[in-house]
Parts: sequence; C-alpha cells; structure tokens
Amino acid sequence: MLIDNYRHKGMRKSLVRTVQEKGIKDPRVLQALEKVPRHFFFEKAFLEQAYQDKAFPIGEGQTISQPYTVAYQTELLEVQPTDKVLEIGTGSGYQCSVLLQLTPQVYTIEYNEVLFQKANRQFQLMGLAPFTFLGDGSEGLPQHAPYHKILVTAGAPIIPKTLLRQLTIGGKLVIPVGDTGVQKMLRITRVGEGEFTKEEFGDFKFVPLLGKQGWQ
Ligand code: SAM
Repeated sequence: MLIDNYRHKGMRKSLVRTVQEKGIKDPRVLQALEKVPRHFFFEKAFLEQAYQDKAFPIGEGQTISQPYTVAYQTELLEVQPTDKVLEIGTGSGYQCSVLLQLTPQVYTIEYNEVLFQKANRQFQLMGLAPFTFLGDGSEGLPQHAPYHKILVTAGAPIIPKTLLRQLTIGGKLVIPVGDTGVQKMLRITRVGEGEFTKEEFGDFKFVPLLGKQGWQ
C-alpha cells in the first residue's frame, strides 16, 4: 500500500525549499514537486534518500534524476494546461508524474523493458494515466506528433532533427546535449516552419541517451 503521511509531506516541503533556494521560481513547478510523493519511486529502505536533492539508482544502470534537475527541466518547458507533452526516458516515472500535475496529456517513452514495466505498475498504483510506450525515443514518437513540448531526460550527443520536426510551431524541446561526461541544457523553440531558436543553460550530468540518434 502507498502511504503518504505528514512526515513525508514535511520532507517534501523541505525539498521544495531546497530547490527554491537553488533558483527554481515557477510556483506551478514548485507546487507539482510538493504534490508528487517521490518516496513512492523508492524501495522502503531508502526513504531518507527519496527526499534528498540527489539522483539515485533505479536499477538497469539507470537513475531517477535529482529533484533540482527535474524542477529545472520542467521550468524550462513552461508547460501549459492544454499542452501535449512528450517525455523521452520514463525511467522511474517520477518526472512524468510531475508533468502530469501540469497537463493531463503526457506521452512518455522508455527504452528499457524492465523499467518500462515497473513504471507502468507505479502509475497504476498511483492512479495516474500517462500514455506510455516502450521503444527508442531518440527519434521521438512520430505516430502521436506534434507535441507542444518535448523533454529528453538522458544526455544526447546531438539534437536529433527528427525531434524538431515533431514540435508544433511555438513548441519547445528541452534536451541535455554534450559528451557522456557533461551536457549543456538546451531549449530549442520552433518559431516558424523551418525556423528554430536555441538557448543554452547550465551544465548537467545525465545517463546517456541510447538508440539511433543517441549513443550507440
Ligand atoms: N525521467 C526519469 C525519472 O523521472 O526517473 C529519469 C530518466 S533516467 C535519467 C534516463 C532514462 O532514459 C533511463 O530510464 C533510460 O533507460 C532512458 N533512455 C535512454 N535512452 C533512451 C531512448 N533512446 N529512448 C527512451 N528512453 C531512453
């Protein structure tokens, strides 16, 4: 059974203060973080770790992203309540659950079958209903495009052109790009038919994006 008591809520409030002190400002993002019980994505024994501002192993060599990183990427996406969002790299399902606080239309794709199954069970237990897919998300999810927002939660070697084509006009792609050691957070906005603007933000360290447009 999933229990979210006053102690968990207290730890979450303090985590939200931490990310706020690190510079996250958007009240909707802070509220979303306060709502999602991050400890649901951890084994019972690791409860304390769930509310530290740290990435944590989720098996299969993958990680649940650091809460600050989740908040940072979500803030850059500027999700509106009517947006259709694609997340690439479902992992534990935590980031997806945060996105679902901002819009009901979240599509998420995961490459690793074990993590895909586990995240699906988790969504079910929590009563959440994102559209989940198993496969290589480095080429997006063309069958459901276009998206107002695309979020990549693994480090990419390049900006995959196929993702750009899946954005609406005015749509935004947030993606960490660089080598496997460190990546620059980028936000690409599709301003016209074949026109894009690119903004660069801070350095982050993600697990590698695999697949055709990722690391082989
Ligand atoms: N968003 C996740 C969460 O909230 O737990 C964290 C994601 S973890 C940092 C990166 C995830 O991307 C891993 O689960 C990995 O299996 C997945 N991944 C890597 N390459 C992928 C690809 N080409 N398509 C879909 N998922 C991919």
